[in-house]
Amino acid sequence: MIKRYAIKVHGIVQGVGFRPFVYGQAQRAALSGWVLNDANGVSIEIEGAPAACDAFIAALREHPPALSRVDEVIVAERPPLGEQGFEIRHSRAGLKSTLISPDMGTCDDCLADIRDPANRRYRYPFANCTNCGPRFTIIRDLPYDRGLTTMSGFVMCEACNREFIDPLDRRFHAQPIACAECGPRLRFTDARGAEISGEPLDLAALALSEGKLLALKGLGGFHLLCDAQNADAVQTLRQRKYRYDKPFALMLADSDTARRFCDISAKEQALLESRRRPIVLLKKKAGGDYLAPQIAPGNGRLGVMLPYTPLHYLLSERRPALVATSGNISDEPIVYEDERVYEVLGAIADFVLTHDRGIFRRIDDSVLIHAAGAPRLIRRARGYVPESRHLRRCRANILALGGEQKNTFTLTRGEQAFISQHIGDLDNIATLESLRREIGYYISMFEAEPEIIAHDLHPRYLSTQLAAEFDGGLPRVAVQHHHAHLASVMAEHGLTGELLGLIYDGSGYGEDGCLWGGELLLGDLGGYQRRAHLLYLPLPGGEAAIRAPWRAAMSALHAAMPQAAEQFSWPEADWPLLLQAARRGVNAPLSSGMGRLFDAAAVLAGGRGYVNYEGQAAVEFEQAIDDSCDGVYQCALAGDIIDWRPMVAELWRDRQRGASRGRMAARFHRGLVEMSLRLCLRQREQSGVNDVALSGGCWMNVYLLEHTMAALREQGFNVYANSAVPANDGGLSFGQAAVAAAKTTAR
Ligand code: ZN
Ligand code: ZN
Ligand code: FE
Repeated sequence: MIKRYAIKVHGIVQGVGFRPFVYGQAQRAALSGWVLNDANGVSIEIEGAPAACDAFIAALREHPPALSRVDEVIVAERPPLGEQGFEIRHSRAGLKSTLISPDMGTCDDCLADIRDPANRRYRYPFANCTNCGPRFTIIRDLPYDRGLTTMSGFVMCEACNREFIDPLDRRFHAQPIACAECGPRLRFTDARGAEISGEPLDLAALALSEGKLLALKGLGGFHLLCDAQNADAVQTLRQRKYRYDKPFALMLADSDTARRFCDISAKEQALLESRRRPIVLLKKKAGGDYLAPQIAPGNGRLGVMLPYTPLHYLLSERRPALVATSGNISDEPIVYEDERVYEVLGAIADFVLTHDRGIFRRIDDSVLIHAAGAPRLIRRARGYVPESRHLRRCRANILALGGEQKNTFTLTRGEQAFISQHIGDLDNIATLESLRREIGYYISMFEAEPEIIAHDLHPRYLSTQLAAEFDGGLPRVAVQHHHAHLASVMAEHGLTGELLGLIYDGSGYGEDGCLWGGELLLGDLGGYQRRAHLLYLPLPGGEAAIRAPWRAAMSALHAAMPQAAEQFSWPEADWPLLLQAARRGVNAPLSSGMGRLFDAAAVLAGGRGYVNYEGQAAVEFEQAIDDSCDGVYQCALAGDIIDWRPMVAELWRDRQRGASRGRMAARFHRGLVEMSLRLCLRQREQSGVNDVALSGGCWMNVYLLEHTMAALREQGFNVYANSAVPANDGGLSFGQAAVAAAKTTAR
């Protein structure tokens, strides 16, 4: 008996070697029929013995190609046609509505190729195949064809072309296929762009070994590299980059090398080695091998990534421990255009290792941490975008514009949400421009003309102002910042019922015009109530307090112990003036932000009065925890107010008694865990709600996250936190989209 089936496969199934995989499976099982790419994915018809057909269909679901993601396989029986042979048919032209794979790290086969002296790609820095290599960073538009990528100018040589058209070859239809004969080439230049003759990789490795700084063109932009064991080189990099204290990432040759410097669990190793190749925040190893101390001053963790292109591998073989930080000046976006590298990075780097494969879009390295039993993205970019997330019951195309810091946007099409790569802080023109530009490309690539615009409540966020540019009279949904954080957790976990949201954040615009950020919300995607919040703290000087946490500290101490604050001789001469102004309500916005309470506690416990990057005071305070000390600083819960004054007063008394910073840090963190638990217990009693969502930037604090989760679970709560999108403002746009979807379907 012969059967025939028509099969449709949806998901990430184009540009990932799916058709050759299907072809190979069909050949082996002696099935006839065909396969082609269509608007929704891949269409297949097979004909043959029933058992062979069943095995074929099972293989589609169970072991599809490495880079694919099969969301759905739809099978329908058809009358047999008695065809012979199996063929790959040409795609129908003009197809766009499909999904594209993120950029993926070099696969083992390609790695073997570049390491095999007999292979024609031996030591070739741009080897790739359908299972690996550049994707989203080189794509101008869909469909994913070489002509629409930055490889369009390279004409395939005969050998590459043979591989490209051979359905059984690993490089069948690998759009960026290349070899030394026909593909991109390296160039090694000085800081002004003058080419230096010699083998570029050898020259680069030599420069690094001599302590020089190198700008290197990677997948989504330029990195600045130097020898991670050369303190002078790292110090020079800090000075030239105007970057103080903020940790630099490392590129280490492999997990074994990483283990010389860091403690690595099995799960962390898997993340480190995953083909998405994120930067993983690992614990520094006590007594580990020497690294320049300037890499991550005052920080117990190191951001580590492994090589992810052949070029990185070839360099890492020669220099196994490198600093690899974004190629930018202070907080500007990472440089990715060849025209700008000398202008911007020429002042920092001594040499440039570049090449002629263009980068179409800037994409930063992703950053994640393994905490509370799961990987948690802190920055979602290379290796993760433009992979879609499922958004239930989303009926319209929604463009959600995100927040102001760590901006991302989200565009939905049907129930797919495309969360953009990390765009950056919208406080400079270049970042705003890339936001505008990328929104335009997403709309065109995914053919999703926005029908609804979602944005933050803050009237002065540039992302909010951008809403006016894109809406053209479209309905707009303004989403409160912390409601969006709550929604980001709900959407990630597919939750629809009411939850308690413990949203601990730096600051976001509240319904009352104050800066919120230490909130207990009760709500769902459609709406929320603010059930409790931190007692408002006046922030003398407003936003300036974020860079100068001593202001939050003095304000908090003054609220908790006015006499102590007045007696205390603070080194800041202008403090009395600021305090007077604050009392009169001049330029002292009220904040319930947990981030500011962290700032205050960190400074009062002897930490720095000024920070060089956002959250530095809190990060250092967490690292200081000495968990062997007992005790806890209690907050008072009075109605809907979380009164932190007793906590601050206790901390200050401890300080006067000469308590160690580690003890104060431990007691403060425990106080927050204990307060969070009490809040949730009380709210559960009143509302009967047993599910808790944790979101907001403060949950990047691993101690707080792990201990709060454990405490809540012990009391029978179901606890959810962000994993696939950041808990910080990088996850806002996804939450905004989820709220807008819920509000508009309800209508
Ligand atoms: Zn490969
Ligand atoms: Zn070639
Ligand atoms: Fe936030």
